[in-house]
Amino acid sequence: MSLLTPEQKAIQQQAREFAAKHIIPFASQYDKSCEFHPYLLEAAKESKIFAMAVPVEYGGLGYDALTQALVLEEWGYGCAGMGTTLAASILSMDSVLVAGTPEQKKLFFTPMLETKIGSFGLTEPGAGSDAGAGKTTAVKDGDSYILNGTKCWITNGGFADVYVIYASTDPTKGVKGLSAFILERGLEGFTVGTVDHKLGIRSSNTVELLMKDVRIPADHLLGKEGEGMKIAMMTLDLARPAIAALSVGLAQRSLDECVKHLQAKFPGKPQPGQTLQFKLADMETEIQAARQMLHHTMVLRDSGVPFSKESAIAKVFCSDVAMRITTQAVQLMGGYGYTSELGKYMRDSKIMQIYEGTNQIQRLVISRAVLAPAPAASAQKAGK
Ligand SMILES: Cc1cc2nc3c(=O)[nH]c(=O)nc-3n(C[C@H](O)[C@H](O)[C@H](O)COP(=O)(O)OP(=O)(O)OC[C@H]3O[C@@H](n4cnc5c(N)ncnc54)[C@H](O)[C@@H]3O)c2cc1C
Repeated sequence: MSLLTPEQKAIQQQAREFAAKHIIPFASQYDKSCEFHPYLLEAAKESKIFAMAVPVEYGGLGYDALTQALVLEEWGYGCAGMGTTLAASILSMDSVLVAGTPEQKKLFFTPMLETKIGSFGLTEPGAGSDAGAGKTTAVKDGDSYILNGTKCWITNGGFADVYVIYASTDPTKGVKGLSAFILERGLEGFTVGTVDHKLGIRSSNTVELLMKDVRIPADHLLGKEGEGMKIAMMTLDLARPAIAALSVGLAQRSLDECVKHLQAKFPGKPQPGQTLQFKLADMETEIQAARQMLHHTMVLRDSGVPFSKESAIAKVFCSDVAMRITTQAVQLMGGYGYTSELGKYMRDSKIMQIYEGTNQIQRLVISRAVLAPAPAASAQKAGK
């Protein structure tokens, strides 16, 4: 029995059909050519799905968090690389959602209504998990800020229309000097560097961003100076379940393909030995547990209950499940698994444990919440 509303089921079905028509047939081709293909954005125009996280008052689809997760699972099922394009755009929107003024929201969200994409630039060489160690600076100059620095491994960076970039407005203050800014495409001094070769999610665009004396209006500062780390953490709390959703989709696809293969290999016979049957049962169990955990987290978010710990738990659990299931599926299919599309799912899974905060960092977040003093802990428990 499904606990989803009829609207959620209809949107899930639309996303499934979109993936079947516009994602699955192209996934292998774009994985092999390692290219982000604007075809995806063209195809998505009709469904306007890139506006699903944009609130209705800004002209978007305003889907609740659970519905967004349903769509992202279908995109992850189709291709985690193309799913990453959508997830990273939502990630950038989340920074504006948590800290933007109405004018900033309009500026940032309007392109999404036309199926343009956003990009989120926090990571730098030497500043990944330790995001506060970044060297990018933003210096106030009259009614502008001037940005200098380099961001690395930025998803959608080469194709985005709007960016959220984190830069220090006061390097002497370390993490407390970090601030967040909106940048628009085409600014002088803003260039895209190398396109990174990747183990997986090869159809997504991952690039370096280089900023040399990039001048932006002062009113493109999100929140106040020094609030960057707080905004980044709030953004990631909102966005991490998207990675959990892609992971569930990836795991489900691997299991489905594995079952199809085994059924074709043993046609008309009782299915292979009990050891194999139990493995399939465990895979199904893990995927269902991951999906339910993700949906629970989304219900907490939609209910306005604190969900930071659950967001980290869902990201860790679902991405670890994806890694295990995709690896197991290759193993169960033997040489065919190793030489077929299944290998892609295994390669695509690895990044789920790394980006938007590695799973080690998530475990730090979870353990801090577990060890937190009573008031914070009881607030969390209210959501159980
Ligand atoms: C394909 C791809 C797409 C990406 N997209 C984006 C994007 O759109 N925007 C963006 O800003 N960034 C993006 N990233 C960057 C990504 O978020 C970082 O790679 C990630 O946060 C880890 O940072 P790092 O690579 O510098 O690893 P490091 O921080 O150097 O970590 C290396 C290892 O040490 C461990 N470690 C580090 N600190 C601790 C600690 N305190 N305790 C325990 N273990 C620790 C980590 O878990 C990891 O295993 C992307 C990366 C990739 C590869």
